[in-house]
Amino acid sequence: MLLNPFTYYSPKSLAQAVELLNKPNCKILSGGTILIANLKMFKKRDIKSPEHVISLRHIPELKGITSTKTSIEIGAMTTLDELQKSQDVANNFPLIKDACTHIGTTPIRNMATMGGNLTCRFSWTELGSVMIALNAVLKFSSSKGEKIISAENYFANQAKDEGILTKIIITKKENLLSAYRRIGKKTLIDKPSISLSVAVENCNDKLTNCRVVFNTGNGFAQRDTKAENFLNEKKVKDILIQQAAQNTSADIISKNLTDYKQHMCGELLKQALDEIMTCK
Ligand SMILES: Cc1cc2nc3c(=O)[nH]c(=O)nc-3n(C[C@H](O)[C@H](O)[C@H](O)COP(=O)(O)OP(=O)(O)OC[C@H]3O[C@@H](n4cnc5c(N)ncnc54)[C@H](O)[C@@H]3O)c2cc1C
Repeated sequence: MLLNPFTYYSPKSLAQAVELLNKPNCKILSGGTILIANLKMFKKRDIKSPEHVISLRHIPELKGITSTKTSIEIGAMTTLDELQKSQDVANNFPLIKDACTHIGTTPIRNMATMGGNLTCRFSWTELGSVMIALNAVLKFSSSKGEKIISAENYFANQAKDEGILTKIIITKKENLLSAYRRIGKKTLIDKPSISLSVAVENCNDKLTNCRVVFNTGNGFAQRDTKAENFLNEKKVKDILIQQAAQNTSADIISKNLTDYKQHMCGELLKQALDEIMTCK
């Protein structure tokens, strides 16, 4: 047998799923791209594995993308493929579509969910930096009730377990410009070695609310305030892209960053700014 025995639950509502979270040694199952691989590994290495697995697959509240005048709400069970193909997402937040395009392979994107990507606690997964750049908020449900937490605080808090991630809410902004860059690391899977999300608002040719977020593979994604200060309140025509490389603090936010990664962070920032200036 491939897996250690466990009890499988398939609740039909969020309330039922939250109730089941009280079971000892339980795990949430969304797309299964990480959890199932982990369960196989536990069996192979004779490690204690979860006794209760709670599938979120049949909970309608967790599905779909809703667009209102002011925001987009994405159900945690939305697959990366659905995200990539959503016209609402592409029109308002092309950064999400750009990031999804690079994630895994088509079969992985068909199964993997946004909720799983944000909560699996692998610090290198890519939607974390995108959500911080877009100033998204995450909605969780647990036996303690509902909790809304900004993506920035969630990852600053090491993606601590907050119960079931139910929704991701992103406020729409006029004149939002963004760019995504990543360098892949071809080992067993093509996970990113560095990824960068940049989102800025362009108000009368002046950049405001700049968010520059690096994930250098050493810990969770973090904002680079030095780069943000370099961009904020500048006239677009005054931004000297070549100077951007000297204006990142990627080396400060990530401990033990190699010279190569430090250099590449600067290069990625230059590329991202170049794309943003071209698109404006
Ligand atoms: C071959 C391969 C290549 C990949 N390449 C990339 C890549 O290039 N870039 C990248 O970013 N990612 C990559 N991934 C990771 C992929 O994005 C994640 O596997 C996926 O997003 C996890 O989602 P899932 O729905 O399958 O999670 P699952 O495997 O179902 O769940 C994983 C864990 O996340 C938690 N969880 C899931 N959903 C919720 C929820 N709603 N609320 C609370 N906790 C929850 C649970 O603890 C669960 O045990 C790759 C994965 C594979 C297998």
